[in-house]
Amino acid sequence: MPLPALSICVFCGSRPGTSPLYAAQARDLGTLIARRGWRLVYGAGDIGIMGEIARSAQGAGADVFGVIPTHLMQAEQGKRNLGTLVVTETMHERKKVMFTNSDIVVVLPGGAGTLDEFFEVLTWRQIGLHTKPIYLLDLDGFWQPLVTLVDHVIAQGFADPSLRSFFRPVATVAELDALLAQAAD
Ligand code: AMP
Repeated sequence: MPLPALSICVFCGSRPGTSPLYAAQARDLGTLIARRGWRLVYGAGDIGIMGEIARSAQGAGADVFGVIPTHLMQAEQGKRNLGTLVVTETMHERKKVMFTNSDIVVVLPGGAGTLDEFFEVLTWRQIGLHTKPIYLLDLDGFWQPLVTLVDHVIAQGFADPSLRSFFRPVATVAELDALLAQAAD
């Protein structure tokens, strides 16, 4: 029985990283999104992990919704052949459009931009602006230093312990699949 459509917002690196496993994981997630009949919402770039997930999701038949600011069309090789391409004026608008068109956020390995996107949606959750699930795809413990930092911030009294409950690290795409399938029920 097919699951109802979910829109999955994926934040991830505009670089490939040092290990081919990062790209492989992005491809697995792209294929999964297509197989489940879900929609990928992402930053519309055709580089790094972003390009990997978009090409794999599209290649396997998923609907892809991309959002990119005008000034990054060139640097991030904005992908024009998407189901939907939204070109925004600003980075803030990009994050907002991605987020409002998604049910769930998944964060793959990435750099400062990915961290910014993660903290944006985490802090929106902290101040009660939404209740959307946020998952960190924690391949080989990639995100453990981030989890440790958040635990430290809580332990030192700068955030409520509930902050840690607003996101969940998952070790594999298969584990994420089981959780997303539940959410789609
Ligand atoms: P990175 O993780 O640094 O490779 O960046 C991943 C994505 O985040 C890229 O598409 C960047 O353009 C994007 N990004 C970087 N900074 C911001 C920001 N302040 N707001 C929204 N997206 C950003």
